[in-house]
Amino acid sequence: MSNIVAIVGRPNVGKSTLFNRLVQRREAIVDSVSGVTRDRHYGKSDWNGKEFSVIDTGGYTIGSNDIFEEEIRKQVQLAIEESDIIVFVVDVEEGITPMDTEVANILRKVKKPVLMAVNKVDNSMRVNDALEFYNLGLGEYYTISSINGSGTGELLDALTEKLEGEVIAENELPRFAVVGRPNAGKSSFINALIGEDRNIVTDIAGTTRDSIDTKYNRFGFEFNLIDTAGIRKKSKVKEDLEFYSVMRAVRAIENCDVAIVVVDATRDFEGQDENIFWLAEKNKKGVIILVNKWDLIEKETNTMRDFEAKIRREIAPFTDVPILFISALTKQRIYKAIETAVDVFKNRKKRIPTSKLNDTMLEIVKHNGPPAIKGKFVKIKYCMQLPTPTPQFVFFCNLPQYVKDPYKRFVENKLRENFDFHGVPIVIYFRQK
Ligand code: GDP
Ligand code: GDP
Repeated sequence: MSNIVAIVGRPNVGKSTLFNRLVQRREAIVDSVSGVTRDRHYGKSDWNGKEFSVIDTGGYTIGSNDIFEEEIRKQVQLAIEESDIIVFVVDVEEGITPMDTEVANILRKVKKPVLMAVNKVDNSMRVNDALEFYNLGLGEYYTISSINGSGTGELLDALTEKLEGEVIAENELPRFAVVGRPNAGKSSFINALIGEDRNIVTDIAGTTRDSIDTKYNRFGFEFNLIDTAGIRKKSKVKEDLEFYSVMRAVRAIENCDVAIVVVDATRDFEGQDENIFWLAEKNKKGVIILVNKWDLIEKETNTMRDFEAKIRREIAPFTDVPILFISALTKQRIYKAIETAVDVFKNRKKRIPTSKLNDTMLEIVKHNGPPAIKGKFVKIKYCMQLPTPTPQFVFFCNLPQYVKDPYKRFVENKLRENFDFHGVPIVIYFRQK
């Protein structure tokens, strides 16, 4: 299961500042590898050896100054539905506002852990000012300063204590999440795939929240489908706003092996599609892209090729991803879509024997070593795939610090050419030996 922490609260209390503090250190490392920064409102963090995802719910609102109360209520509602732990941020400078009271009223009824963080307690003089927040009826709170970091350690201690520890033994069946923007055709795709009878075998039990994970047997494949379109129908938040689709995608993607990203052929592949794609990449999940509603497109000679090229430009550098053109309406290539998702699932579980890996890769790096720096040559001696849930490789060499990103990408491309990791993010480390 996943560990998703949502930061909620009214505008200007310091949610984004806290979010950045939680994810920054780690993002800095990740981004120096991938060379890209994308979604600012979703990130991974860890504390006391436990990993979790953080969502800054406020980050998704546009024009946060004249935000409506109704909007905040919806955000909080969605955070409750889609996260595991809620951090409720309030502001000691402003004290309790009516909106804080309103949010607290919602949160008091929630069964999930809620941690209240009284922010902007930059010095000890303000600790006493925080006392008034007991009046919100949420019990204990944590005084923090998101700007200088004080108190955030205690907050994180409390938070990680509430995270799920051991990962539940994984079901061996592929878990596919059907994700995408509102109206891309997710429900239609699922209906086309599983038919009206909804060939349900069993629900996966054992989760406190509504089950969104259902086992199917279609076209000779057995798989679990995580249906974000279906959750929308059960949710208290009915609107199809972009923010909500991302929130839902987060949980679905964290719980899947392969994300099936459905995009609408009649619209451009753009920011929101990209965000959903990067959620999958960031979580090291398999990905396939389905360009749906292909029946509506007037085709000329290069229409498909051009559309595909545009998507690949947007998703660079992780371009080794299957892109299929389908129609949920006419069921065109529906079977192919599932077959491809199964292939990606297998690629993600693939283990390359060490001898085979070395035979191939050492031969390649021998003839194409990393460029010498200050007259020093990097010698790669040995490599292996790590026993991790997703493909990760370590290359042992004399001077790992001299191996730069372009060379890492070269090695990644060679791994992809030789061993087929189509649709799967891979990680490469260089280590001293
Ligand atoms: P959000 O709208 O809730 O995401 O709030 P922001 O993170 O954008 O912060 C709103 C304002 O409060 C900004 O000017 C921040 O610099 C400031 N702020 C955030 N955290 C702190 C803090 O711990 N202490 C002080 N003094 N100011 C803070
Ligand atoms: P969701 O919000 O992603 O679940 O999208 P829906 O499945 O509800 O589809 C949104 C709209 O697009 C509906 O009116 C569908 O009938 C239509 N639609 C979905 N797939 C296709 C398709 O392949 N071709 C055409 N022409 N329309 C489609």
